[in-house]
Amino acid sequence: MKDKSMAYNHHIEAIRKEEFPMIQDDIYLDHAGTTLYPKSLVDSFATEMTANLFGNPHSASASSQRTMFIIENIRHRVLRFFNADPTEFDLVFVANATAGIKLVSDAFRGFPEGFNYLYHQASHTSLVGVRQEARNSLCLDSHDVDKWIEQGHLEAKLNSRPQATLFAYPAQSNMDGRRYPLSWCQKLRCASLNTGCQVYTLLDAAAYAATSPLDLSNAETAPDFTVLSFYKIFGFPDLGGLIVKREAAPIFKQRRYFGGGTVDMVLCSKEQWHAPKTQSLHEALEDGTLPIHNIIALDSALEAHHKLYGSMEDVASHTSFLTSRLHRGLKRVRHGNGEPVCVMYSISPDDANAGSGNGPVVAFNLRSRLGAWISLDELEKLVVLKKFHIRTGGLCNPGGVAATLGLEPWEMKQNFSAGFRCGNENDIINGKPTGVIRVSLGAMSTLSDVDKFVAFIEEFYKEDHQPHPVSRTKSIVEDDTSNAFVDTIMVYPIKSCGGFRIPTGIPWAVRPEGLAWDREWCLVHHGTGLALSQKRYPHMALIRPSIDFSAGQLTVTYYGPLPATVRTEISVPLSVNPELFQPVDTPKAMESRVCGEGISTMIYKSNDVAAFFSDILGVPCALARFPPGGSGTNSVQIAE
Ligand SMILES: *Cc1c(COP(=O)(O)O)cnc(C)c1O
Repeated sequence: MKDKSMAYNHHIEAIRKEEFPMIQDDIYLDHAGTTLYPKSLVDSFATEMTANLFGNPHSASASSQRTMFIIENIRHRVLRFFNADPTEFDLVFVANATAGIKLVSDAFRGFPEGFNYLYHQASHTSLVGVRQEARNSLCLDSHDVDKWIEQGHLEAKLNSRPQATLFAYPAQSNMDGRRYPLSWCQKLRCASLNTGCQVYTLLDAAAYAATSPLDLSNAETAPDFTVLSFYKIFGFPDLGGLIVKREAAPIFKQRRYFGGGTVDMVLCSKEQWHAPKTQSLHEALEDGTLPIHNIIALDSALEAHHKLYGSMEDVASHTSFLTSRLHRGLKRVRHGNGEPVCVMYSISPDDANAGSGNGPVVAFNLRSRLGAWISLDELEKLVVLKKFHIRTGGLCNPGGVAATLGLEPWEMKQNFSAGFRCGNENDIINGKPTGVIRVSLGAMSTLSDVDKFVAFIEEFYKEDHQPHPVSRTKSIVEDDTSNAFVDTIMVYPIKSCGGFRIPTGIPWAVRPEGLAWDREWCLVHHGTGLALSQKRYPHMALIRPSIDFSAGQLTVTYYGPLPATVRTEISVPLSVNPELFQPVDTPKAMESRVCGEGISTMIYKSNDVAAFFSDILGVPCALARFPPGGSGTNSVQIAE
């Protein structure tokens, strides 16, 4: 086993420079975000593209027929890749896993009496969102699912009207890599046989299929719907798939929407009627022109994957071997006082008590010698400098992160009201972390990638120094009382811009969630409405706001180089005068969105103010203020 793993590792070491020139001296450890595409895939795709004339498959020309023919071949090839018999399953090409989930959701919302939606706690945000379409929805943990299987029904009260129930779960969590039993699908189907309410299963295999063989050879035990993201397996193309068990296909007859290419005939004027395509399921579901070139690239992707890595089993055993080493390595790093540096959330793939096991993902947080949590934002800055590519934060897995970190809904809501959004600098709130560090591996990861990361954690986060050989609490108290005193306090009136030193002798309100005037304003991108951050726009550090109570103004000065014609200072009143802001109910009013949740901000109307910031940062943006009470009380509006 070990020899085989070493042989694979040597092979990757040998081809990596040639096949992945884009890596250079970076260390890429975010394969759960997307894996990397090899050069031979891109070369072979380029050859294919320039050697053939590909037309739109909806036309009748020879080039169209060629496209059609190739796409159908690839569809079969992909099904075979998952051991799925084309007579039992159909593959629908979609933009990404999320689009596949939405297609299923679209079908279920067509039930006249609605449907029940049950989803596992470890679900990706994209699965959670389906609950908005359901009549009843419930979030379950593994224990609940086991009980459901055992008893044939759920104790929790669900409205019994709907005739159909959809249960969705990830085969592997994108947060900590934990795997969930593929056998649940069949067990739930059987358990609900006599209940009068049919249970359908939706398996999110986007993370799982990236490094493991997904085997659908037994149609009886397979999920009704399986969604995938091909870029997570191959690095390219940017494409997703929905694999539907033909037995469950009639569900899609309820889908109301139809798009170009999915209907045989449509009448519009005097009579409104349409005939959906009936020949194959995928024809009726692939709205509009297919992502032709992406699908064609999938052929090169399958080819290159096989040539470089062998089988999916080989990839699975290599990544599992590396993950054990990474997990062990991080767990072993200890401070001088014997306390662990890493608090591990993932289980090791070689943990015998691990249930369905764990994929090549290690999620953890860092603690100091005295047990204080290390800020993710601080880590991120160092990680970037040292050329590691990892992911930190909430990871689009709200239930998983909350359960892992023991965050209660009231705490999360309180954090939200206090101004916490994903991507904030302030990620340790009330002494608790609000996100995790995720390191994930792929088919082209090597031993050296793993060892470098462990060495990095050891070098920068291990503290050997141990001045007082006393208990933890005692030493904190001593440190606090002996020589610590507050010299100055800064607030950051505009999120991510320079700080403002609180003048001595001026009373300053401290609210439950922090200092007054801290992050009262932010800059939002004109196109996306996203709040700008210093990470992306380092010049924000040179924008210094100052609060002048006597003038009742916030004055913003820019301390960087600017052409002489551009002003270096602007002011806005501290008071909230509605006249100064864009009306909120127009489509023009923007929302600042961070991490998918929307918070309505009030945007200043003044063109001068917007131009001041846009000129400095070289990006169209505007100054915005959180609504009254936004950073002060618990009443931040969440846009639905
Ligand atoms: C990446 C991922 C998704 C979302 O995939 P998209 O391709 O971005 O739609 C959903 N679920 C899991 C488990 C994932 O890892």
